Amino acid sequence: MKRIGIFLDKDGTLLQDVPYNVAPERIRMTPRAEYALALLAQTDADLFIISNQPGVALGYFPMSALANVHAEMNRLFAQNGARLSGFYFCPHHPDGVIGEYALHCNCRKPAPGLILQAATENDIDLSHSWMIGDILHDIEAGRRAGCGTILIDNGNETEWQLSPTRRPDYIASDLEDAVKHIVRRGTGALI
Ligand SMILES: [Zn+2]
Repeated sequence: MKRIGIFLDKDGTLLQDVPYNVAPERIRMTPRAEYALALLAQTDADLFIISNQPGVALGYFPMSALANVHAEMNRLFAQNGARLSGFYFCPHHPDGVIGEYALHCNCRKPAPGLILQAATENDIDLSHSWMIGDILHDIEAGRRAGCGTILIDNGNETEWQLSPTRRPDYIASDLEDAVKHIVRRGTGALI
């Protein structure tokens, strides 16, 4: 049987947004995120981080620096009883200065490429899965991948263009509220 995935945006959703930060000691979770992870740990869902990391293309840090970020997120998940099944990131940016990453790709959100890749590699049923983010690019990526979508309204989205592809299924006050909504809507396969 295919599995259910919960795809989390990183900066502003799971972690406090420190632009282009890759230093583990500066990584902090958003309010209520630890409770969200503890709740997620009780579900059957596989948990993934889906993140744009244009800092690679822009030359702010090497791709290898993201291994430290991945390790710190693994630690934070484990600290709350949860397990991170995958960290999928887009290192590209069309205006990048590092040649191999300076391009238009199909993985930079709002494109759904990272979610589709995670689903293929982990046998995820996207129609019963969810994308949670704090800007409408996250919502559009989730919808284009065929997931349910939740926007955390923490003020990070400043351009409210609610076209049909960018309308979230639910608007949450924080990550815990978002996860509670998923558990409420659970088909029975979740818990
Ligand atoms: Zn990309």
